[in-house]
Amino acid sequence: MTDNSNHFEKLLIKNGLKRTGPRLQVLDILSNRDSATSQPYLEQVMGTEVDRVTLYRVLKAFEEKGIIHKVLDNHGTANYAICSGNCNANEHHDEHVHFNCNNCKKVYCLANVQIPAFKVPAGFKVENLNLIASGICAACADKD
Ligand SMILES: [Zn+2]
Ligand SMILES: [Zn+2]
Ligand SMILES: [Zn+2]
Repeated sequence: MTDNSNHFEKLLIKNGLKRTGPRLQVLDILSNRDSATSQPYLEQVMGTEVDRVTLYRVLKAFEEKGIIHKVLDNHGTANYAICSGNCNANEHHDEHVHFNCNNCKKVYCLANVQIPAFKVPAGFKVENLNLIASGICAACADKD
């Protein structure tokens, strides 16, 4: 556990979630990565300490509470990233562009790149917005 564990405990309490080892661990891992994290990656890192069903439930609860948001990469794999402070149990506000690197396959939140505003036809209501760009990320571009 890092120095953030106190902050994570408060976050759980604030959202009416009990402090459990797997929940704290998932928060710790997700906030220490510069890219979104898939469930298989979490399983790999957490090993046998947590079973798949528990992990799935932790992610689902976090998503419902507005703590993390889900991003599907180009292969349809779900990746999870910590939300900015504007999300809550009622609605998410993660209207930023996501970037899927074709080389390292990482999915990044481009938190400062907002999805441009657009109009939908009358009668349509947008409930979910997803804009994913793909290409080469800065870390990979640096390597050549
Ligand atoms: Zn969110
Ligand atoms: Zn990359
Ligand atoms: Zn994001």
